[in-house]
Amino acid sequence: MPVIGVAKFLIIWQENRQVSYEYGRYGNPTTVVLEEKISALEGAESTVIMASGMCASVVLFMALVPAGGHLVTTTDCYRKTRIFIETFLPKMGITTTVIDPADVGALESALEQHNVSLFFTESPTNPFLRCVDIKLVSELCHKKGTLLCIDGTFATPLNQKALALGADLILHSLTKYMGGHHDVLGGCISGSIKVVSQIRTLHHVLGGTLNPNAAYLFIRGMKTLHLRVQQQNSTGMRMAKLLEAHPKVKRVYYPGLPSHPEHELAKRQMTGFGGVVSFEIDGDLHTTIKFIDSLKIPYIAASFGGCESIVDQPAILSYWDLPQSERAKYKIYDNLVRFSFGVEDFEDLKADVLQALEAI
Ligand code: PLP
Repeated sequence: MPVIGVAKFLIIWQENRQVSYEYGRYGNPTTVVLEEKISALEGAESTVIMASGMCASVVLFMALVPAGGHLVTTTDCYRKTRIFIETFLPKMGITTTVIDPADVGALESALEQHNVSLFFTESPTNPFLRCVDIKLVSELCHKKGTLLCIDGTFATPLNQKALALGADLILHSLTKYMGGHHDVLGGCISGSIKVVSQIRTLHHVLGGTLNPNAAYLFIRGMKTLHLRVQQQNSTGMRMAKLLEAHPKVKRVYYPGLPSHPEHELAKRQMTGFGGVVSFEIDGDLHTTIKFIDSLKIPYIAASFGGCESIVDQPAILSYWDLPQSERAKYKIYDNLVRFSFGVEDFEDLKADVLQALEAI
């Protein structure tokens, strides 16, 4: 590069003609490599990474929904996202319509009745793995000038290409499959340069920067993403079938099963269904606790998507502070289990789950 003066370089950078690392909060060569890798996987013009998935959703809402604006979201969703929407957005006069993931009519009427800035939904959702018809809802949103952001954490960019299906933005909690080792937190949003720049500008003010060491761990984790996801798709599918056929399991939620309400849609818009299988034990809170305590392989924890299997009983983990009647509003019953299958040998996992079911 020809030697130029500092002042001249600043002008070039201000005009966005050259990336600058003039202050750590705005980026660093390692974080830019990670952003470029994610953009390549998503087919996006631009990606912004942040300190966690929650940080990404919060900055997204604050950047794209104006004070007094309207947001549409779906019933089944990560609890902390719902908490932010319900408790913080109203402080900025932002109202929200909450629809069932399959209720396209409810989306149409919300778009008719309100000036909707953003439709934000997970697909698949947490914890029931419901799916939203991304192509259809993006067409409906775009007719009204509404942006569509998909939280694709459960899908990964390998199992679902939300931008190619029509979404404006795709968000991930990198903490899960992308990192893949349950040892680092991060989040990202990808889309057009125009919209991502709007989010990035606010992110630089709010300061939820991902440190370069964490970015390095994601870059390293992503080298095996395709192998891990392949294994997890396969184990998830096989375990979902096994669980559904088991007399001690009442119900299984997995988009790869014909019993799933959006199975046909999931087959159209996904190439695999991931390693997370949610299911209900045929029993009460204590039967389910006994099942979980009898398992030998998985960790009992709140995350998912990594190499090690993880099991979560939402009634006593992520929803423990709500009374049973409140939990029931979200269909979080005492017997619900969310099982994230890792990359362990399938036969070992199968034997472990079967012996734990025998124990109850
Ligand atoms: N989106 C989904 C679907 C999630 O399940 C989670 C966390 O579990 C998040 C976002 C938040 O991500 P993080 O834990 O990285 O803040």
